[in-house]
Amino acid sequence: MPPRIAITTSLLVNDPARPDRAVLNAPYIRAIERAGGIPILVPPFLAEPATNALLDLVDGILVTGGGDVDPARYGEAPDPSVSGISDLRDTSEIFVSKSAIARQLPILLICRGMQVFNVALGGTLLQDIPISGPRHRQDQPRHETSHDVRLAPGSRLARILGDPSSIATNSMHHQALKSLAPGIIPTAWAEDGIIEAIEFPAYDPFLVGVQWHPEELAPHDPHATALFSAFITACT
Ligand code: MN
Repeated sequence: MPPRIAITTSLLVNDPARPDRAVLNAPYIRAIERAGGIPILVPPFLAEPATNALLDLVDGILVTGGGDVDPARYGEAPDPSVSGISDLRDTSEIFVSKSAIARQLPILLICRGMQVFNVALGGTLLQDIPISGPRHRQDQPRHETSHDVRLAPGSRLARILGDPSSIATNSMHHQALKSLAPGIIPTAWAEDGIIEAIEFPAYDPFLVGVQWHPEELAPHDPHATALFSAFITACT
């Protein structure tokens, strides 16, 4: 049986003429499928008992990208740049993050996923990255790389990627991690010091968070492909 992977989804509430919609960029689904997993989507408006029942069915969790986490979740007033806040999605993904830890499931966190996970465990976010150093909102297409990240030698991420000192990534974020939740460590940085990857060393199952979007780089980028393969292997 291929591993079943819960994938969190975005919530669209922008059109008053239509009902709320759960949406997910197709590259997440394709990346999990190509790596050998079966994607199972988690709607953000599912109540906790049903979310729990869904998590009973899966072998790993992917928390995906999207709008900003409400700064109130980490005790700050919102910067004017903050956008795309969804209370339902914040609530759902904080619940999913904590439930995944309690269940000892392998966890892959991408972009907002790494941010909301850090907030769920007590960390904070940099609400708007100052414009200096590498530009974190690239003009290039999403499947192209735009800045390098330096990897912590010996980290799980570096080992998965074959121990390079740095790799090229894409970058589509205006927020980043500020204070790290207890137990979380940084394992990659952009040249301006922005944290680009995290791990949770005390947590034995697979846990890797990346600030870039490997799902948009796979399958043409071997590093992105290696990351999804390692995640699915851990879920098997
Ligand atoms: Mn970046």
